[in-house]
Amino acid sequence: MTLLIVDNIVKHYAAGERRILQAVNGVSFTLAANRTLGIVGESGCGKSTTAKLALGLVPASSGRISFAGREISALRDARWRSLRRSMQMVYQDPLAALDRRLTVGEQVIEPLTIHRLEANHAARREKALALFASVGLRSDLFTRYPHELSGGQRQRVVLARALILEPRLLICDEPISALDVSVGAQVINLLQDLKAQTGMAYLFISHDLKMVRQIADEVAVMYLGRIVEQGESEEIFRNPAHPYTEALISAIPSIRRRSRDRIVLKGDPPNPVDMPAGCPFHPRCPRAIAHCRSERPALRQGPDGRLVACHLAPSAGLLQRPAA
Ligand code: SF4
Repeated sequence: MTLLIVDNIVKHYAAGERRILQAVNGVSFTLAANRTLGIVGESGCGKSTTAKLALGLVPASSGRISFAGREISALRDARWRSLRRSMQMVYQDPLAALDRRLTVGEQVIEPLTIHRLEANHAARREKALALFASVGLRSDLFTRYPHELSGGQRQRVVLARALILEPRLLICDEPISALDVSVGAQVINLLQDLKAQTGMAYLFISHDLKMVRQIADEVAVMYLGRIVEQGESEEIFRNPAHPYTEALISAIPSIRRRSRDRIVLKGDPPNPVDMPAGCPFHPRCPRAIAHCRSERPALRQGPDGRLVACHLAPSAGLLQRPAA
């Protein structure tokens, strides 16, 4: 069942006199229950803004977002609040997401109080303690303050706080980038277990492709506010079709076949206020041809179902891809 439909969303910000920062430019995707969509790309590519748009935390300049069959932008306060219960977000920095003045137990109970769920405080506390156990936290930590917990424990508290409302969609924005590798791996395993138990959908934002490969069913690669490649995760990791995806994947030693296969991109992404003409990736693309400088490639579906925005992709059907 399709839960989330993001249809051609655009987010532009004014950036001085007659200048526009194009943060997100016509992004579309759908997400079904029990599926994980990973959104990857370098910092500034628009992936976090896309997550906030999907959750309705920032208004879109244009485009439509529907959740569970209802268009989010058309909803008013009360209906929006009840829908928001089903869509929760986990951020990168658990300490920033928690209130230092309240015990972590109080903070897990709080969403139930706000939404007037459960009969009384005792029932809320019981539910919060059960969730504490299911995210792998000891009950004696319930009365501690955030600063008394480790980074991994705090991220588990943030997860418990998000999960207490039994959401159908969890948006995770770089959820383990503040954690060390082994703790991060535990949180990923926990997310996978929770998905298997509840059938929740995840929108997983990360620059860490190795980790996204572990958790995502489908991947969308963003560059300068646009999706440039999207498809089943394993297909993309085994055989990337867009030169940008190819370069990102080639930077992961455990995936790269030979060290000489590494594709090093020149420079940083251009300023989204001064978008290059033609393909936005052409100034850095190792495969660019003259045509790329004048015409922006559309995101087209190829025979394998994958979407790719590149003149050299088989889906473009225009040009033969030259050897690297
Ligand atoms: Fe590179 Fe051209 Fe494809 Fe853009 S359209 S990714 S510049 S080959």
